[in-house]
Order: sequence, then structure tokens, then C-alpha cells
Amino acid sequence: QEEHMQRSEKLRVVGELASGMAHEIRNPLTTVRGFLQLAKASGYNIEAWYNLIMDEVNRMSDLTGEFLQFSKPHRTDFRTDSLHDCILKVISLMESEATSSGHVIHFQDMAADEIFMLMDQDKMTQLLLNIVKNACEAMETNGSIHIQVSRDPKNATLVIADNGPGIPSEYLEQIFHPFFTTKETGTGLGLSICYKIVQDHHGTLEVESELNKGTRFILTFPMADKADTLKDNAAS
Ligand code: ADP
Ligand code: MG
Repeated sequence: QEEHMQRSEKLRVVGELASGMAHEIRNPLTTVRGFLQLAKASGYNIEAWYNLIMDEVNRMSDLTGEFLQFSKPHRTDFRTDSLHDCILKVISLMESEATSSGHVIHFQDMAADEIFMLMDQDKMTQLLLNIVKNACEAMETNGSIHIQVSRDPKNATLVIADNGPGIPSEYLEQIFHPFFTTKETGTGLGLSICYKIVQDHHGTLEVESELNKGTRFILTFPMADKADTLKDNAAS
């Protein structure tokens, strides 16, 4: 419980810092990127350093984009929505990145009915996207990612599994900490954002991993029942 509190508090502090910093950085970055594109398009000879600068600019842009997700904890927009829609959206968003590395994303739907739950669809999409993206990045080529969804009367369970390198046990606790990354150009923010989004949805997030076998993220969420769904939709 204490560990849990510390983590929330840490995320709150990071969130406040992040919102200020991200806004400060993002605008000038956009200007620089626009200028670079223009300079290249107009034939000015920047070839030698164009890619170098652009990579760094994009990296900072990614970082501020991720930071900004921390900064809107109270702007969560909960509605009764379909979990399937989110999953399909994430699969289509990841399709080209996955395919370019030879990865295949499988979706297995074990629920009899479509799963409706109270969610912020943008955040739920971001959550699943972060996990699927990590899986893609962890596997070199020709990996497979299995997304499986099931439900019982109270909860929806989502499993996202890859057959990548796995996570060393000494890292397992740390992967949810802000800024923990093993990637050269990683931000280390993806999973801490995931953790926060799951908390906001009153869900649970667990990870199981075996070296050289793969990694499974297991998410559970309380479900809205049909009556609530109808009531909600009638009200909106
Ligand atoms: P980033 O992706 O920027 O490194 P994340 O918070 O998304 O930050 O992930 C933190 C770390 O967790 C990654 O750097 C990686 O070491 C580890 N990780 C996350 N998902 C996986 C996975 N599916 N397989 C192997 N390692 C993973
Ligand atoms: Mg990540």
C-alpha cells in the first residue's frame, strides 16, 4: 500500500512538472521542424544535417507528447464505450509499424457479447497502444502479438502477449517507474502512463515475463452492465 501511495505521488509531481515543460518545448519544436522541412523543400543545402536534426527534433516531440498525457489527470472523459472498438483502433494504428518489422498482431475475442465499459476512449486507446508498441519494439523481426479479450459477469480481462526477449526479473518492478527505459531513444514514460490510466479506470495491470519466451500484460476492468449502457446512451 505504501509503495502504491509513493507511486501515485510520484506520478502527480511528474505530471505537474511535465505540463509546464512540455508546453514550453513543444511550440518552438514545431517551428524548427516546419523550418527544416521548408528549407529542404526549397533546395537549400541542408542534406548533411537534415536527418540528424530531424531525428532529434522528433525525439523531443515524442517526449513532450508523452509528457502531456501526464498533465491532464482531471480531464478524463468517461463514457460507456466498446472495448472492441478500442482494440480494433489500436490494431489498425499499429498495423504498418508491425508489418514493416514482419510482426503479426492476432486478436482473439473470447467474449460472447461485445464488451461495454465505462472508459475514456482516448486514454484506453493510448494505454493499449503503449503496450502493443512496446511489444513491437521488443521483438526484432517476425514476432507475434496476441491480444485476447474475455469477460466474466463483473470484469473484462485483456491479455496482450508477445514472444519477444522477455524482461529480466530485476527490471520487472521498475518498468512502471517514470523514466525507466532500456532503449537508447526511449522516454521511459509509456508504462507509467499505462499504470495511471489503468488506475483511473479502477482496473488492474499485471505483467508476467520469461526470458527468451515473451511477455504478457494482463489488464482487468470492471464492466458497465447493459442496463447502465442503455441509461447512459439515453442520457447523452
Ligand atoms: P520506453 O518504451 O520508452 O522504453 P516504457 O515505459 O514503455 O518506456 O517501457 C519501459 C521498459 O520496459 C522498456 O524500455 C523495456 O525495457 C521494458 N518493456 C516494456 N514492454 C516490454 C516487452 N513487451 N518486452 C520486453 N521489454 C519490455
Ligand atoms: Mg514504450
